[in-house]
Amino acid sequence: MECLLPLCRPFKMAAPISDGKIELGFIEKSEIWRQTSPFFPSKVGGRPSWLSLTDLPNSSKLLCGNCGKPVIFLLQIYCPVDAFEGTFHRTLFLFICKDSVCHSQNSNKPFIVFRSQLPRVNSVYNFEPIEEENVKTSEFDTTIKKFGINLCVLCGCNAGNKKCSKCHTTFYCSKEHQLIHWKGGHKTACCKDGVQDEVPNILFPENEIVTEPEPSLDEQQRDETEAVTKQETDSGYSAEELEKMALKETKEDKHFLSFKDRIGLEPEQVLRYQRGGDPLWVSHNHQPVPTDIPACQCGSRRIFEFQVMPQMLIHLEVDKLDASIDWGTLAVYTCEANCNEGEAYHAEFLWKQDYEKSSDSKIQDS
Ligand SMILES: [Zn+2]
Ligand SMILES: [Zn+2]
Ligand SMILES: [Zn+2]
Ligand SMILES: [Zn+2]
Repeated sequence: MECLLPLCRPFKMAAPISDGKIELGFIEKSEIWRQTSPFFPSKVGGRPSWLSLTDLPNSSKLLCGNCGKPVIFLLQIYCPVDAFEGTFHRTLFLFICKDSVCHSQNSNKPFIVFRSQLPRVNSVYNFEPIEEENVKTSEFDTTIKKFGINLCVLCGCNAGNKKCSKCHTTFYCSKEHQLIHWKGGHKTACCKDGVQDEVPNILFPENEIVTEPEPSLDEQQRDETEAVTKQETDSGYSAEELEKMALKETKEDKHFLSFKDRIGLEPEQVLRYQRGGDPLWVSHNHQPVPTDIPACQCGSRRIFEFQVMPQMLIHLEVDKLDASIDWGTLAVYTCEANCNEGEAYHAEFLWKQDYEKSSDSKIQDS
């Protein structure tokens, strides 16, 4: 089989079914070329760096479950699974509706998850990784053309044959994105040489996601946490008042405090990865029971794979656009068997859990 692309980074560590260790994800600035498909990135924002180049999800599969408008790319995680030949390369993609009106308490409707995977021998990427300096990103654009893919100029999703009817050179996933581009600059630039064709940016800021193992909560850290807690309580409350407050402390508060302790070890974490493990819930309410997680189309059960933490919201700069895109955590469940029948992008499942309202006010207080 002819390989069109070199690989540029040594293959990353595979992620087997959890051995109890949790990988934490952090945001890191890196060069844009590193975020493209040949580098198998884990990243947030920008355009999706598609893995398989056959059967990109049709635009009709990337619509918000609430408003029916196109979702946009949120993040992707490169997470091969060793146990299967077909998952030598494996990436999970998460999309989100950017309209804050669609985001309601504990609702997963504005989210879409896809899994894509390839064996080591495939028609897109080389068998062996090669040196980074030998790679030109432009080669990948050529590859995309060879696969006959047209990407939406705004969001980087599959446009199929939908293009500007005037110039026939600019492609769109949807009428919505065509309209945004038309109003945002294409109206004046269409069919005109030398006129800069402005493309309005509707995407999230693009950054790499790097991972490292979660540190263990050893005795020393426990002592430090206790010392901090003590300092906080030495802040002018009488013993009687403290006792009253403790009595009022609900189950929910306790859950929230233990959640805060756990992420306090690495407060910058934006993601937790533990295939086959358990999510760290932000609340004792609205946790799924096994029947809440639908089985995969292939009949296999789905297992937990990773969760997006609320700290990720800071890096999306959603406050500037709209205050109400928000979550406690987004837990992604994927087919245990990593089935590969049918189309190249397999829909997976997301569970959204928000803070209880009482904890909401607690965060703002602290
Ligand atoms: Zn929507
Ligand atoms: Zn689009
Ligand atoms: Zn045009
Ligand atoms: Zn399956």
